[in-house]
Amino acid sequence: MKNLLLLILSVLSLSSTFSQNIIMKDPEIEKMVGEVNADSLRSYISRMVSFGTRNTLSTQKDSRRGIGAARNWVLTKFSEFSRQAGGRLTAFIDTTTIQPDGRRVDSILLLGNVVATLKGTDPSDDRIFSISGHLDNMRTNVMDRVNDAPGANDDASGCAAVLEAARIMSKHQFPATLIFVTVSGEEQGLLGSNYMAEKAKKENWNIEGVLNNDIMGSNNSNETNIIDNTKIRVFSEGLPAFELDKKANAIRNLGTENDGAARQLARYVKETGERYVPNLEVVMIYRNDRYLRGGDHTPYVQRGYAAVRFTEMNENYTRQHQDVRMEKGIQYGDLIDHIDFEYLRKNTAMNLANLANLAKSTGKPLDVKVEVRRLTNMTNLSWKAPKYGKPKGFYVLMRETTAPQWQKKFFTTEAQIELPYSKDNYFFAVQSVSADGNESLAEIPVPARQ
Ligand SMILES: [Zn+2]
Repeated sequence: MKNLLLLILSVLSLSSTFSQNIIMKDPEIEKMVGEVNADSLRSYISRMVSFGTRNTLSTQKDSRRGIGAARNWVLTKFSEFSRQAGGRLTAFIDTTTIQPDGRRVDSILLLGNVVATLKGTDPSDDRIFSISGHLDNMRTNVMDRVNDAPGANDDASGCAAVLEAARIMSKHQFPATLIFVTVSGEEQGLLGSNYMAEKAKKENWNIEGVLNNDIMGSNNSNETNIIDNTKIRVFSEGLPAFELDKKANAIRNLGTENDGAARQLARYVKETGERYVPNLEVVMIYRNDRYLRGGDHTPYVQRGYAAVRFTEMNENYTRQHQDVRMEKGIQYGDLIDHIDFEYLRKNTAMNLANLANLAKSTGKPLDVKVEVRRLTNMTNLSWKAPKYGKPKGFYVLMRETTAPQWQKKFFTTEAQIELPYSKDNYFFAVQSVSADGNESLAEIPVPARQ
């Protein structure tokens, strides 16, 4: 009888080994994803466009027009969501004074980011995950602060995603903290995100991931006629902008140029996003941003935080940074008519699934090491329990050195594993898994020499 039981147990554990690639969805996240609503997104964008212009240099005194009215409205929305959800979401306009730079700021400017925080429920967990969009916009001339600039896609689309995520997620509890932010001054030189990233660094915020959304509401190429709402790009840096000199030797020796913090985050968002959102492919782009273009994730990566940028697959340059006009039969300008709200719904849901999975996850495993002293074709990894939460176990991830994504997962409840694959032929990483199946970000091993 005892032997039979042992046999059944070993068969069960064998079958669980074979089913290791079937990942169950978290019903709480599935429910939140299902609540992302195209009509809500339309109402936010329509309101943002109604402020005429949201140029960072525009009026802050008019209650209906300009960046001042726009950021007050965003604050009102965050406060409304907070009331509907029991008051745990706290929001304010974080202002700073910017001096003229002789370039894109020509007079002293009061800059304001609208920041809403959903504090984590675990007081010992100081991790922060953030979603960001930029509220400001521009006409063809970035200094034109007077005339109309709808900015529906660039970047009311990103701000709408931030608002919708806040509306839905503020009703839920997460051990880690979430920050929802719409910054200003992006078009004037990433002013708002620079201010926020610098503040985070000075105050030692433990930001583990930033999802920046900028131009993600209409996949519609102006030259090549590609209209496709099934793909979104995630941009992530390769070699780290932060302290590259210090890290370059190790990166070269270990071949980890494709395994930095931003790239791990990109891999994670692709896997998690595609798990929860049907008919959406998250396409990893191996560069920090498009040619000669900037975004609000960059001030974070420059300070060593993992941050990525989401942008539609094909941009439309007759709409972006263009005065609204008709020319030779072509409608120029960033109008709301051009937004594909079903596409924006999927992209918002993809953001939400990732934020929720991260904020529900247990912490990254600590001290992940790969044994390198012995000449062997086996791989021995070890690690320590995470600082945050109690994981039900760990996934050991494996991929070929030329593969973009993790190809195999091994589940273990222990803090070490021996695998019959050579460490010289594959890359490995370890992530913790919470009781509900939420994975932490992946941590790559460092060589253990003694
Ligand atoms: Zn933008």
